[in-house]
Amino acid sequence: MGNLDKLWEYQEAELALDKLEAEIKSTPARIKLNKLHKFLKKQQSTLSHMQKDIEAHKEIVEKISEQFEALEKQYEIELAEFSIMESDPECTAEEIRESRREFESLLEQVTGSRRELYDTLIWLEKAEENFKETWSKAGKAKKEYDEARAVCEKELEERREALDKAKAEIKNRQKDVPSELLARYKQVKLNHAIPIARVENNQCSGCNMSLPTAVIRKITTGGNLVECENCGRILYS
Ligand SMILES: [Zn+2]
Repeated sequence: MGNLDKLWEYQEAELALDKLEAEIKSTPARIKLNKLHKFLKKQQSTLSHMQKDIEAHKEIVEKISEQFEALEKQYEIELAEFSIMESDPECTAEEIRESRREFESLLEQVTGSRRELYDTLIWLEKAEENFKETWSKAGKAKKEYDEARAVCEKELEERREALDKAKAEIKNRQKDVPSELLARYKQVKLNHAIPIARVENNQCSGCNMSLPTAVIRKITTGGNLVECENCGRILYS
């Protein structure tokens, strides 16, 4: 067996492991796990945003409440003053009108503040309900995620022996390949998942480029490392 044959066998062993790993990554449980992982990540970020929003609105409620209380106190004072002025014969009509304008303007502010407080409380109630709903959905998804993960772990365990065998096979075949040939193979692998291409009908099976007769001769006379001029794969006949 020539060195290129050994390298080809080495590639076969690598591809067998790739196939096994791809199978593990594409089981229904693994696909479900990935989907749930994405969903949970999104929910986490949504919940964190919701929480921040709720905290901010709670602070707003506190601030409006304080304003509201202060305005109400002020209003009561102005109203009492107005009552006194109204029954005071020494007050002019202009003074009474001015006092009325002041307490009426305050009343407007009190009403506005009350409405703002009410709207914010309604918003908070809804947001907290939303938060609870999202939280419960995320909790359900987390449970499903844990179940899918357990299935995936079991699947991996079932394939452990095959995986170990495939890895051992790679190591075993690697021993037979001269190190400079292996280094070249790894170099080509940086660009191509499958670095060695068979020559079929005088073409590189990697890129389907027709190969010159001189190149074909070089490959078939054996032992030489020849790369496809077009794609750079190692040619094997
Ligand atoms: Zn090629």
